[in-house]
Amino acid sequence: MATTHEYEVVIVGAGPAGMCAALYTGRSMLRTAVLERGIPGGELLNTEKLDDWIGEKSILGWELARKFEEHARLFGAEFITANVTSVRRTEDGTFETSTDTGEVYASPAVIVTAGGTPIKLGIPGEQEYAGKGVSYCAICDGAFFREQRIAVVGGGDAAVEEADFLTRYAEKVYVVHRRDEFRASRILQERLFANPKIEVVWNTVAEEVLGDANGLMSGLRVRNVDTNIVSTLDVSGCFVFIGFRPNTGIIDGHFEHDPMGYIVTDTMMQTSIPGLFAAGDLRSQLTRQVTTAVGDATTAAIAVEKFLKARGEGGGAGINPIGSGGYSV
Ligand code: NAP
Repeated sequence: MATTHEYEVVIVGAGPAGMCAALYTGRSMLRTAVLERGIPGGELLNTEKLDDWIGEKSILGWELARKFEEHARLFGAEFITANVTSVRRTEDGTFETSTDTGEVYASPAVIVTAGGTPIKLGIPGEQEYAGKGVSYCAICDGAFFREQRIAVVGGGDAAVEEADFLTRYAEKVYVVHRRDEFRASRILQERLFANPKIEVVWNTVAEEVLGDANGLMSGLRVRNVDTNIVSTLDVSGCFVFIGFRPNTGIIDGHFEHDPMGYIVTDTMMQTSIPGLFAAGDLRSQLTRQVTTAVGDATTAAIAVEKFLKARGEGGGAGINPIGSGGYSV
């Protein structure tokens, strides 16, 4: 039988947004559970080094993750290892957040910070050679490709930044991009163009991951979209960075989202479901950075405190009042 645990706020996900939200709800003395299936850190654990975290000229992703966790725990948030399967608003307005082990976390407010999952290319061989050459995480798998030739697919910040990172291991990195310009930020592009180990393969799409008799990836078949010429890159690895799909599947019930499936919130980070807040990479917004994630999370946590007060719940310490706008539930 399912065990129900009661909290004032449940936070789903312990990436930067989840941990920052936990810091603020804990600081407001709200009984907070942070449910995370893996190690706290989220995308920080897939980022080697950050040079845009204000106040730190350079910091390792895992190191910042550890600092966030320590800081959030300081204010009393409980971190629980759990794989959340659904978040459902019941008729009386209470949320039930369920896990795959049958535990249920009941709370009047939930902040979803579950991030996203890498989008797959959907080409033959991709699934077959996943973990045998195909990867979606440079920091996790880069070291396996020492002195080898590899391909990176994509043209956004992730592809351009990770291609540069991967040259510390790989002998050569081909960046395969479907257009003739990157969408990545200028500074990342400049670093990539200055790197002699990188060759950009413009106007080209990946069509098939090829393998050898040992079951390992042995090449990437690509097609130039202008000439339709098909060729094979002699690579033993392919890192795919073509964007993220927001992890919104756990939300039970209709919620407003943009055409890409990202959650639309109001300025308080409240979704179209009253009491359900969203912060970080799964929220519809211009860019997805650690700084924007923690900004969202700060707002969401403070808005939750106000939301609970308006319902006559939550022993919030009343810090950081954000005006008199209330909620009707
Ligand atoms: P993104 O910005 O959505 O870029 C995805 C890239 O993949 C685009 O270049 C896109 O091409 C290409 N693409 C999409 N579908 C494709 C397909 N089926 N086949 C081939 N190419 C495909 O995704 P992202 O790079 O993962 O970044 C996600 C968010 O995180 C962004 O907001 C980004 O700014 C942020 N981020 C920031 C940093 C940083 O600042 N250090 C690092 C990583 C991520 P088109 O350009 O032709 O559409």
